[in-house]
Amino acid sequence: MNTATLTALFAKRQLALHPAELLTYEVDAGYDRGRPDGVFFPESTKDVGMIVRWAAPQHVPLIARGAGTGLSGGAVPEHGGIVVSLARMDQVVELDPAGRSAVVQVGVVNLAFDGLVKEHGLYYPPDPSSGRSSLIGGNLGENAGGPHCFKYGVTTNYITGLDVVLADGRAVRVGGRALDYPEYDLCGVLVGSEGTLAIATHAYLRLIRNPPGVKTMMVAFDSEEQAGEAVSAVIAAGLVPATLEMMDQRGMRIIEAYTPVGLPIDAGAVLIVEVDGYPVGLDAQMEEVADILTSHGGFDLKIAQSEAERAAIWYGRKSFAGALARLAPNFYLVDITVPRSRLADTLAAVTRICDGYGLTVGHVFHAGDGNLHPAIVFDARDRAVAAKVFTACDEIVALCIERDGSITGEHGVGMEKRAYMPLMYTGAELAAMTDIKTIFDPASLLNPGKIFPAELPPIERQSPRTPAGDTFAPATAQEAAAGLAGLAAAGKTARIGSAAKGDPGAADVWLSTSRFRGVAAFAPDDLYITVGAATPLTEVHGFLADRGMQAPLVSPWPDATIGGLVAANVNSPQRMRYGGLRDVLLATTVALADGRVIRAGRPVVKNVAGYDLPKLFVGSHGTLGILTDITLKLFPQPRSRRTVAVPVDDPAQGLAWAAATVLVWMATTGVVLCRDVDSGDRAAPYALVFTLEGVTDDIDAEQDALQTALTAAGAPQPAPFEATAATVWATFAGAARPEGSRGQSLARVGVPPSKLSAYWQQLAPARQTAAAWCFDVGNHLLYGRYPGDAAQTAAWLNAVRAPALALGGYAAVMDTVWPVDLDRWGYTPSALDQMRKLKAAWDPAHVLNPGDFIAG
Ligand SMILES: Cc1cc2nc3c(=O)[nH]c(=O)nc-3n(C[C@H](O)[C@H](O)[C@H](O)COP(=O)(O)OP(=O)(O)OC[C@H]3O[C@@H](n4cnc5c(N)ncnc54)[C@H](O)[C@@H]3O)c2cc1C
Repeated sequence: MNTATLTALFAKRQLALHPAELLTYEVDAGYDRGRPDGVFFPESTKDVGMIVRWAAPQHVPLIARGAGTGLSGGAVPEHGGIVVSLARMDQVVELDPAGRSAVVQVGVVNLAFDGLVKEHGLYYPPDPSSGRSSLIGGNLGENAGGPHCFKYGVTTNYITGLDVVLADGRAVRVGGRALDYPEYDLCGVLVGSEGTLAIATHAYLRLIRNPPGVKTMMVAFDSEEQAGEAVSAVIAAGLVPATLEMMDQRGMRIIEAYTPVGLPIDAGAVLIVEVDGYPVGLDAQMEEVADILTSHGGFDLKIAQSEAERAAIWYGRKSFAGALARLAPNFYLVDITVPRSRLADTLAAVTRICDGYGLTVGHVFHAGDGNLHPAIVFDARDRAVAAKVFTACDEIVALCIERDGSITGEHGVGMEKRAYMPLMYTGAELAAMTDIKTIFDPASLLNPGKIFPAELPPIERQSPRTPAGDTFAPATAQEAAAGLAGLAAAGKTARIGSAAKGDPGAADVWLSTSRFRGVAAFAPDDLYITVGAATPLTEVHGFLADRGMQAPLVSPWPDATIGGLVAANVNSPQRMRYGGLRDVLLATTVALADGRVIRAGRPVVKNVAGYDLPKLFVGSHGTLGILTDITLKLFPQPRSRRTVAVPVDDPAQGLAWAAATVLVWMATTGVVLCRDVDSGDRAAPYALVFTLEGVTDDIDAEQDALQTALTAAGAPQPAPFEATAATVWATFAGAARPEGSRGQSLARVGVPPSKLSAYWQQLAPARQTAAAWCFDVGNHLLYGRYPGDAAQTAAWLNAVRAPALALGGYAAVMDTVWPVDLDRWGYTPSALDQMRKLKAAWDPAHVLNPGDFIAG
C-alpha cells in the first residue's frame, strides 16, 4: 500500500502512520487483534468520500472505528488497511427540542449527548454501559442496548436516518428526519451492520421526554429461578419498569470483594428495578412492584430514598467490569439472548458448563430483555485455560440457539462470533445477508471478514413447481417458495392479494396468502405473538384483549391483515409511544422468489446477529418476498387510557396549540388534529385530540400538564372524548374507501419534526377545498383525503408533494383507484440503486407484484 499518496491528499493531523501510534488501533475491548497500515481521522463527509475513493482502486480495506469499546472485534483491522476513526466528527449539528430530535455527527459521545438533551428536558434512551466513551457511530454500528432498553428499546428504535458513504465513495442518505419514508428501510439494515456496508457520518435521532421522576430498588432472592419468575410476574401484572437488571450470587460476591456496596451476598440473586414517571405516582408504582416481588420470594428490599442511594445501587452494578479485572488478568463477557421465560434455566445451565471446566463465572445482566452476560474470569496467558473458556463459550452459544435465542444481543458478531453464524442461521438466511453485503460492498472493502464465516453453508432452495390456474394459494412457506420459483421459471408473474379484487393487473396470477392464518405461538412471558400473515388485525386484537396484552397497531381498514399492514407499513398515531411496525416486528418467515425460505429475525427483543432483515420487508409492498408468518412484540394493556379533545377552527392554530404541549408528552400515546371530529359542545371544523395511557397517576399528572400548556397557549379547556387519537385517525383514513366504492385517494405526507406548521403554511395555495386533512401531530405526519378523478388526483398529489420535498419530507399515496401510485416518490431516493439491486437479488425474474414500488 502506498501511504505516501495519502499524505499528499490529507493534512498531517488527519493521519497516524507511525507503528507506535498504530498500536492503540490493533484492538477494541475484546480479544481479537490486527495491525492497521494507518489511521485516518476524517473531519467531514467529504473526507470520508475521499478516503474511500483513494482505497477502492488499490483494494485497501477500510475499518470504521468509534471509540473502540466494542467487545466482538468489530473495529479490529484483521486484514490490515486503514482504520477510519470517526472520533473527530463530534458535532451536534442540530438539536430541535420542539421536534424532539437531533442531527449529530457520528463521533458524538453517547453520554455527553444524553447529558446535553437532558438540559432540554429530553432523553436519548439507548444507554450502553460504555456510554461514557462509546460514540453514536459505534452504537449504531452495533445497534447498542443498555439497562433501560426493556422499556425504551435499542439504538435502531431511535435512528430515523443516516448519512453514509458507500463503498464507491458516494454519499447517500437513507431514511431522514421524517418518519416512514416510502422506501426500503435501508437505514434499518445499516444500523447494526458493524461497518461492513457503509461508513456513517451523520445520524438523525429521535428523542423522548426525560421522565420527570425515577425510583430505584434492589431486592434479593434465594435463587435465580425465583428472581426470573418475579420478573415474569411484574411483566404479567401490566407494569413496565424502566429497568429489570439481575445479578447472581457469584456476580455479587465479585463486586463486593472489589467495592463493598452492601450487596446481599448470601442471597442467590438480586434484582435492580427502576420505575419512572411523574413523581406523584412513583411510590404507588414501587409499592405494587415491591408487593409482587416479595410475594414471589423477594426479601431485603431496599428502595433508594435519595439520589445518593440510587447512585450507590447503580455503582455496584456498574463496577462489575472493574471488579472482574481484579480477579484475573482477563475476563470474557459472553453476550447471548434467550426468550425471557428461559432465563433461569439458561443461567443454571451456563453455570453448570463453567463449573464443569473449573471456570469462575458471574452473571450481571439485563433480565428484562433476556440478555445474559456470563462473565468468565481467567488468565489468557494460560493457553489450556483459555481453550477451556472458548470451548465453554461454544456450549453456551449452543444453549441459546436451542432456546430460539440469539448468539448476540448487543455486542455484535464481529470476529468473535462469526463462526457461530451458521449455527443460528441456515445457508439461505446467511445468503440473504451476504446478498446485501455484495450489493453495498461488492469488492469487500469495508471491514472485510467481519460477521460472516470464511465458509458459508450451502443454500437450500425449493425446487420450482409452477402452480396451475389463476390463483395460487400456498399452505406453507416452502410451497410458496417452490411456486414462486416455478412462476419465475415459466416467465410468469404474480400479484399478492385476493382474486375477489378482480383483474391482477399486469400479473399473470393472484397469489393468495389466505391459508397463512391464525395464532401460531403466543408467549405472554416473552411478550411476543406469532401469527399467520393473513390473520386479520381484528382477530389478533380480540385474542390479545382477552389475555391482557396488546399489539400497538391500528388499521383504517376493518379487513386489514397483519401481513398487509407490514407490507404497506401502516402506522397509527400510537407510533409516537410504542414504535412503528419496524420497531415491533421481531421476526418473519419469508418465501423469496428464487426458491429460498428465510426466517428473518428471532422472537427476542435483542438480536444483533447479522443484518436486521425483518426491517426490509416493512413497507416493501410485497416486492421482496411473501411473508408467511409474523412475530410481533407485545405490550401489556395499559392500566388506564384517557382521551381529551379541544375544538379547533383553524388548523394553524391547532398546530400551534399542539406545539405548546410537545415537551409534556410522556404518557401521551397519540396526538391528532383532525377534520370533522365532534369534539364537544361547540361545533368546530377540527379537533385536537390527545390520548394518554399508563398508570392512572401519570395520566392525571399529564392531563394537568397538558391543560396548563394549552391554557398558556390560549387554547380552550380540553374536554373528555370517547374515541382515541388512533381511532380518530383510522376513521378519517378509512373513510377514503367507503364500502363498495373507493371514491377518494389517501396520501401520507411526512415532514421533519417541528415542520408541520411550516408545511401547512407552504401548502396553503394548493390545499384544495375538496381535500380533508388529519394531522398525526405526534409523528409529524399529515394525511390528506381527496375525491378527484385521476388527472385531478395526480395534480393534487404533485401540489401536496412540492412543499414536503422542499422541507426534506415526502408525500406518498396510501390508497387510490387511480394509477397515480405508480409515481411512488416524486423524487429519486438517493439509494435507489441499492434498492433496485436488492429487488434483483431476491426476485431476479421480477415475479412479485410487477410494476409496484420498484419497477426495474
Ligand atoms: C465496559 C463495557 C461495557 C459495555 N456495555 C455495553 C452495553 O451495555 N450495551 C452494549 O450494547 N454494548 C456494550 N459494550 C460494547 C460497546 O461499548 C458497544 O458495542 C458500543 O456501541 C461500541 O461503540 P464504539 O464507539 O466503541 O464503537 P467501536 O468499538 O469503535 O466500533 C463498533 C462497530 O461499529 C462500527 N462502526 C463504528 N463507527 C462506525 C461508523 N461511523 N459507520 C459504520 N460503522 C461504524 C465498527 O466498524 C465496529 O464494527 C460495552 C463495552 C465495554 C467495554
